[in-house]
Amino acid sequence: MNSSAENLYAAWRERGRAVDRLGDDLAPPPEKLLQTIWLHQRLKRDQLSTADGRLVRVFHPGFLSREGGPDFRGAVLQIGDDKPVVGDVEVDLQAGGWHAHGHDRNPAFQGVVLQVVWAAPAKPVAGLPLLPLQSRLDAPLAELALALENPAGLPENLRGKCAAPLRELAPGQITALLHAAAKLRFRHKAAAILARARQAGWEAALWEYLFRALGYKHNTWPMHNLAETKGRWLRGTGSVFEIQSRLLGVSGLLPDELTRSQKAADSFLRQAWDVWWRERDAFADCRLPRAAWRFHGLRPANHPQRRLALAAHWLADPKFLAKIEAWATTPGSSVPAGDHGEPDNPAGRELVNALRAVFQVARDDFWSWHWTVKSARLPQPQPLLGQPRVTDLAVNVVLPWLWVRAGEGGNLVLQAEVERRYFAWPAAEDNSVLKLARQRLLGTTRAGAVKGAADQQGLLQIVSDFCEQSNAICADCRFPELVSGLKAQTGA
Ligand code: SF4
Repeated sequence: MNSSAENLYAAWRERGRAVDRLGDDLAPPPEKLLQTIWLHQRLKRDQLSTADGRLVRVFHPGFLSREGGPDFRGAVLQIGDDKPVVGDVEVDLQAGGWHAHGHDRNPAFQGVVLQVVWAAPAKPVAGLPLLPLQSRLDAPLAELALALENPAGLPENLRGKCAAPLRELAPGQITALLHAAAKLRFRHKAAAILARARQAGWEAALWEYLFRALGYKHNTWPMHNLAETKGRWLRGTGSVFEIQSRLLGVSGLLPDELTRSQKAADSFLRQAWDVWWRERDAFADCRLPRAAWRFHGLRPANHPQRRLALAAHWLADPKFLAKIEAWATTPGSSVPAGDHGEPDNPAGRELVNALRAVFQVARDDFWSWHWTVKSARLPQPQPLLGQPRVTDLAVNVVLPWLWVRAGEGGNLVLQAEVERRYFAWPAAEDNSVLKLARQRLLGTTRAGAVKGAADQQGLLQIVSDFCEQSNAICADCRFPELVSGLKAQTGA
């Protein structure tokens, strides 16, 4: 027997063992497998009923979420004679998981309309409708475990209604569609910046949007609030450390207790308090409550304390704005027309590196070595700004700001150059919205199927314009019809 046949047999044998382990359908499966069964609806769908005997119709199981909160978002269900509802679904092995995991007290779970469990509880449970799956699988559990071992993303029948007409388009047409949506998104961002600049001035508008971007998803608004009062709290500061201390103070993020275990952290804290205690009353009107910030699910690198420490470096640099302007006009980082954000495109990489050089901080004695004010010293220094955030800053703030300001100033050459850079920018970090959109619209899990940051922005715009106006079963969504019309117009 040759070695590849032996390997194949070994794989079969391993699979056979997995089947042995799940051979008893009475034993509860791992929760992840139960979620996968629900996602793929490997169920006797016409026989689903709640523990209290009401028929359950599943029009859509919802979208699997890995971001905390309920397991499935946006399911479309009908329970008994009630009207169909859109809501979340939580999958637990046992009914008691709802209370045991604290879901009943967690506001993120308020939208849950159905709890899916493995077995029906011995005693009825009041409250949430409960759907036991144990006797409703469409195949033995072991068989399902093998079939769903490596499911390739969203099942075909759960893709969006636009997936089929989009598949009919030529690749160039899909790119053109994404670019059109990306352009619209870019112009909306630029228009919002312009509106703010008309009230507060170009520089203030830039700072507000930079701060918002530093808030990254969860802390946009407290960051925005800080930027709005910048004229007050920045006055009288000189060094980076003074700005950091004041920013930590006004943000409400300066801890008032020492760690007693981290020498460097306690030394930083003492010095920051030396600055802040004398002046805190003077800034009472622009101080934020700590409750304004969200910390749940934050990576240490995105902690707002660290983001503010970085902003202090930018604010302390008198040439910071001039550097951004110089980056936009430096021919060395210009982009050939038509170079559209390919991941291996050297011009795109050059753009990112050149802008990163403007935003990155060479070294901060404390923050290069600590994620947060109270954290232990890191074994290696860490940059205050990673490459993915440079792309966020570019696409959401710097490029739209430069573009709209150039347009308002009549500098159409610069405006065209900024737009070229936008379309040449390499793809941003993948995220859960993009992943789901790729699967629903384009039928693929491959991140590389959407090339370049602008194409990603285009996809996000379609999600915002169509998916978010509809539901999981694409009710009343006009996008499929529009895509079909595009094909008919061009005769693709
Ligand atoms: S809601 Fe519309 S755009 Fe979104 S997946 Fe469904 S058909 Fe496509």
